[in-house]
Amino acid sequence: MLIFVLGLAAVGVVLVLRAWARNGSGQQPAEPFRIAGSFYYVGANDVTSYLITGPKGHVLIDGGYADTPPLILASIAKLGFDIRDVKVLLNSEPHMDHAGGLSALQQASGGELWASEASANVIASGGDDPSVTVLSWRDEKPTAVLVGLGLGALSWIGADSYPPARVDHRFKDGDTIRVGSISITARITGGHTRGCTSWSFKVRDGDRDLDVVSACSLKVVLGARYPEQGADLERSFRVLRSLPADIWVTSHARWWGRYRKFVASKTAKNPADSFVDPEGYRGYIDTAETEFRSGRTY
Ligand SMILES: [Zn+2]
Repeated sequence: MLIFVLGLAAVGVVLVLRAWARNGSGQQPAEPFRIAGSFYYVGANDVTSYLITGPKGHVLIDGGYADTPPLILASIAKLGFDIRDVKVLLNSEPHMDHAGGLSALQQASGGELWASEASANVIASGGDDPSVTVLSWRDEKPTAVLVGLGLGALSWIGADSYPPARVDHRFKDGDTIRVGSISITARITGGHTRGCTSWSFKVRDGDRDLDVVSACSLKVVLGARYPEQGADLERSFRVLRSLPADIWVTSHARWWGRYRKFVASKTAKNPADSFVDPEGYRGYIDTAETEFRSGRTY
């Protein structure tokens, strides 16, 4: 009897966690807006999606959870753009909160999806990351091992899976992807995931060019450890610091102050100025490095 009750409770917990994971947090509707020039925010309140527009077609970075695309599509339409003009889909990392919606967006747009080699394999399988290893009992605190095993179990039952998307092109670190006059350079900045990709590009805002970086998450997640993670992060800190950044964004809007900057932009003489934040960019990398050095995990 006890076993039955415990089993039922366990199934209940798993179903609740699965529903939470699927529906995700941070995907309430958010007002879409221009960040600068032809660079727009079209994501949810926290899981992000960015649109870079051009006369020969548009580029979309990240797709949110599997059920975020309706919000993204509504935002793109509200800004007056057509999803069918999106020619290229890009991704920061293949976790379900950023790659879950790629398949639906690919179908709606007809665009081609580009991914790093390591991300491509995960996206094409719908979230299965073969590079993730089981935590070593020797190297981790007992609580970390327990949390890691729990996350591993959730992954094993498919709680972090999503509709697989077709990867049309695989790029290497430093490759530039072009659509008409849009030119975006991929920087593989692994650590959070092995193939995590930061994007660097320029936007023309009025009579000035602004350097933009869409930076990877740099957090070490307990359920997503892999052997070269430390070395990857060391390199990622270096690479990100070397990129010129007037404007910076990340895959979770709260990390870069989306709402605060959006509100400030409404009363700014030049709205784009509210998003110019090179100090915030340095701070983001510095904080991540401090956390990494102190052994912090999520
Ligand atoms: Zn992630």
